[in-house]
Amino acid sequence: MFWDPRIERMPEKELEEYQERKLKALIFRVYNHSPFYRKRLKEAGINPWDFSGLRDLTKLPFTKKQDLRDTYPTGMFSVPISQVVRFHASSGTTGKPTVVGYTANDIDMWVECLCRGLVSCGVSREDVVQISYGYGLFTGGLGFHYAAEKVGATVLPTSAGNTARQIELMKDLKTTVIACTPSYMLYLSEYAYKTGVDLKETNLKRGIFGAEPWSEETRKRIEEKTGIDAYDVYGTSELSGPLFTECTEKCGIHIWADHFLVEIIDPKTGEQVGEGEKGELVVTTLSKEALPLIRWRTGDITILENEKCACGRTHPRIMRILGRADDMIIVRGVNVFPSQIEHVLMQIPEVGEHYLIILDREENGLDVMTIQVELSEKAEIDKVSDILELEKRIAEKLKSVLNVTAKVEVVNPGTLQRFEGKAKRVIDRRKI
Ligand SMILES: [Zn+2]
Repeated sequence: MFWDPRIERMPEKELEEYQERKLKALIFRVYNHSPFYRKRLKEAGINPWDFSGLRDLTKLPFTKKQDLRDTYPTGMFSVPISQVVRFHASSGTTGKPTVVGYTANDIDMWVECLCRGLVSCGVSREDVVQISYGYGLFTGGLGFHYAAEKVGATVLPTSAGNTARQIELMKDLKTTVIACTPSYMLYLSEYAYKTGVDLKETNLKRGIFGAEPWSEETRKRIEEKTGIDAYDVYGTSELSGPLFTECTEKCGIHIWADHFLVEIIDPKTGEQVGEGEKGELVVTTLSKEALPLIRWRTGDITILENEKCACGRTHPRIMRILGRADDMIIVRGVNVFPSQIEHVLMQIPEVGEHYLIILDREENGLDVMTIQVELSEKAEIDKVSDILELEKRIAEKLKSVLNVTAKVEVVNPGTLQRFEGKAKRVIDRRKI
């Protein structure tokens, strides 16, 4: 199923010509309307009249989160505020919040992109879509809301929290699709189980999960526990909230190349990496009016796949996000993302879905990683010696797969904190 087959299956060559035209137009537009970008382009020695398009892409300067903070709140906008129809703002968890504005065309483009995504993972007008992402300044709730309505589905805007009510409404209104963070889906399914509700017996068929990195093994766990198909979604508040999803092939997230130009770079050198190599995702917005971004450093680490997808869509795919460049844990010279640790943990059947990584520095200056994991509800282990054996087995697996040395502590089911929004899986006490 396609939302806009002409665009979604556009031949690669045509798509590239389209990007070329739009990129040149974008450079003219920001040069004329954004004092911020005019200065940036001048500093980089770029004159829009000489700019040749995709060939000159790497000559363009990067735009970073710090630029949005330095020009807070609206110093990077390229249109007068009278043309802005909506603001969203980031939560500011890693510093001052950043503000994003949208013209009416920007909202249409955002909705259009997510409509393509929803349809590509099987959502139709027959569905009841429960949106358990937060509504408000966070882009998740409203982003899904407008797209699901435009697809013609019935929207149930529960927003985040109040899990008992979420499950009651899910049953009564026959929800078929849920959109939330993967950690909330784990919490919700656990809550349902404890209160005697079997999600496999409800109408729920699909889940679209994002706003935090999650692993392939967690997908398997969610699918097994709930009987649904779980899909990954990607977007950041600066680019316009949720924009891109996996298709039913579940092998990467389609990036709509008519509106967004993507590159993968080495986060240290800023150079583009080779095909299929891991690096930081950099995005240039080709259509956005209020806040166009040139070579935006997302901070997210992934791999780009240009091979045509079996679904017939020609747009490139990014693989599951491993984590943010600044979420990478460095312990005793080993670099690892929490999502990679999660992937290893979830392969062990006796391990539950919740875990916590704690980083400490000992008096001798050595870093120590402790990983607390819950015992699975289904694991029939109660002897202390068996728990010790399991802890040892987990530690050995982490060492052999990721070369990570960690102290593993297995705790009882239900011990670790649950999250109704984004999960906090790492506590770094080394800087305190
Ligand atoms: Zn596909």
